[in-house]
Amino acid sequence: MGENVILMSDVKKTYIMGEEKVHALRGVSFSVRQGEFLSIMGPSGSGKSTCMNMIGCLDRPTSGIVKIGGKETAKMTEKELAVLRNKTIGFVFQQYHLLPSMTVLENVMMPLRYQGIEKNLRRDMALDALSKVSLGDRVNHLPNELSGGQKQRVAIARATVTRPSIILADEPTGALDSKTGRSVMELFGEINAAGTTIVIVTHDPRIGDSTRRCIRIFDGQIQSDTENPDADLSLAFSEDSVDSRIVEIRPKMVVKEKPKNPIIGIDLDFLPDYAEF
Ligand code: ADP
Ligand code: MG
Repeated sequence: MGENVILMSDVKKTYIMGEEKVHALRGVSFSVRQGEFLSIMGPSGSGKSTCMNMIGCLDRPTSGIVKIGGKETAKMTEKELAVLRNKTIGFVFQQYHLLPSMTVLENVMMPLRYQGIEKNLRRDMALDALSKVSLGDRVNHLPNELSGGQKQRVAIARATVTRPSIILADEPTGALDSKTGRSVMELFGEINAAGTTIVIVTHDPRIGDSTRRCIRIFDGQIQSDTENPDADLSLAFSEDSVDSRIVEIRPKMVVKEKPKNPIIGIDLDFLPDYAEF
């Protein structure tokens, strides 16, 4: 295990909704070393996605310190954060967030565009990332021609193609059946074995139990932070584990701030040449 790649110190996040304050994170502290495989587990509404948005520098904390790759993020400008995200973090979401009008290959090439890499090399790197997720034969398909599991593999290829030190995944298996979910977890295992830090956010205890480290979060606070050296990712969806997935019910929420484009973790405002892709 290497140095700290994520440091959260007394991170609080309060959303103001009209008269009401929602304390989504109430002082969360933990650090993650390069090469760890961590799940952040808790029920719906416990603050997991907020926590992921803090780690991913997609949103700023109300108070507390967030350091990514040793860099204190509080004083960074939006543009500096965008560059940090693009270089350091690969994002994977439950709903894939693939661009429907682009082919699989173009989707995976896209984050490299913002690193000034020329087109032929972008293409080679994307093809390599797609072959690692066993999609070398689907590169010219459109996303809607793929199954859910295949779409998530494309999203994983897009997250890994920049060789980030951290992969952040929010409910990455939430829309997949058990067998496909297991193969996605095993794919994360392979990526982790090659040295990438993986952080998976989930409400599914079967995933929490299958990762080497699990932080349990409830009502915006850490309840436990445990290590399980014997954890086995392939058991995440084993047939005898109980499916305790809960249907997400949440109050309708008003999002006031303009969300970042999660696809590449970059706000499109910083990408004047985006349309020409
Ligand atoms: P989880 O991912 O564990 O379901 P979230 O981090 O999405 O939890 O939400 C934690 C709490 O913060 C919930 O009460 C949720 O309604 C609230 N919340 C999340 N995002 C916003 C937002 N943009 N504006 C207002 N409230 C929010
Ligand atoms: Mg969530």
